[in-house]
Amino acid sequence: MAVAADSPAPVTGAGTILRLIRDRRAATRTELMELTGLGRSTVSNRLDALLAHGLIVPAAGSASTGGRPPTKFDFNRRAALVLSADLGATHSRLALTDLEGEVLAERAREIAIAEGPEHVLTWLEGTFDDLIAEAGRDRSEICGVGVGVPGPVEFAQGAPVAPPIMPGWDGYPVGARLSDRFGAPALVDNDVNIMALGEYWARWREVEHLMYVKVGTGIGCGIVAGGRIHRGAQGAAGDIGHISVPESDEAACRCGNVGCLEAVAGGGAMAKRLTAMGIDAPNARAVVRLAREGRPEAVQLVRRAGRELGEVLAAAVNFFNPGVIVVGGDVADAHEQLFAGVREVVYQRSLPLATRSLRIVQGALGDRAGVIGAAVMVIEDVLAPAAVDLAVARRAAA
Ligand SMILES: [Zn+2]
Repeated sequence: MAVAADSPAPVTGAGTILRLIRDRRAATRTELMELTGLGRSTVSNRLDALLAHGLIVPAAGSASTGGRPPTKFDFNRRAALVLSADLGATHSRLALTDLEGEVLAERAREIAIAEGPEHVLTWLEGTFDDLIAEAGRDRSEICGVGVGVPGPVEFAQGAPVAPPIMPGWDGYPVGARLSDRFGAPALVDNDVNIMALGEYWARWREVEHLMYVKVGTGIGCGIVAGGRIHRGAQGAAGDIGHISVPESDEAACRCGNVGCLEAVAGGGAMAKRLTAMGIDAPNARAVVRLAREGRPEAVQLVRRAGRELGEVLAAAVNFFNPGVIVVGGDVADAHEQLFAGVREVVYQRSLPLATRSLRIVQGALGDRAGVIGAAVMVIEDVLAPAAVDLAVARRAAA
């Protein structure tokens, strides 16, 4: 839901009241009055508007009796549905969620993004319809669509921009097409950004500043700053895979430079090195399997990749001061050696103040980080206080 920048929302409108209830900071009129400084009748008006929208419900055991209004309120997570998709290079996952990002139905499939937008989005639209039917719901309940793609995105346009591994997708209006199809706003972002948002939402909301590092075939990073995705001026923030690593033996990178982090520490780079040693390792997953089996060459490579990743992260930690670094992706999901290398270098190289309470952890959501994050992106947009205030005002004017 787009909100004009020049429409100042009252800081304590219905949207703010909803936020306090959603965050479980307040559930009763008295608590809301204390937190907002509003009078009882104003709080009651706001609550009535939210009740009329179905966005809140009387809390269990607090339904009105004998003409007395309910005393406690809960966020109504069932008020609407979200469609979300995490489109990967070769594997995609789709989900239907409620307004808390809980997955109600989902589907995963091997499908090549390189098949192009027509092929992939036709499948996606049909599968979204299947998920809605499977959950026994209706398309009219969809309040938004969120999609992550494996490449750079012009967020405001909802379109990929010169994505290296997505032929045919450059400038394709993914957001506009899905918005038309499902009659709801559609947001598109880079896959690592939505994974960062998913992990943040699931476990780290109190931390506020988080870096999510995906180590798969390549290496990417999503940044959550002050509870929001930091995309940068051109949507290129967090592209740590192409930061040069010192003493990295000049490995050639797909970006055209040499010595990039991804070219020495990515799963694809490690697979190439093992293959050059005469070991059968066609891809990142094979590297992980060999490392898990204790194959010394693979263990050494993964550990070294961890240290090289650590070099770049140590600098990022000094620069950004995150409260947590979440590491996910195929390679991270499988091997302790990577974490050992990352921790060793980050705690040794970063400034003590920046690492005093820094945690470096594995992702909690695994393969679902992307779909949950894409849903959260939509939920946070649709339920942003200003957006809720606008929806309430429109209803009142209608
Ligand atoms: Zn590069």
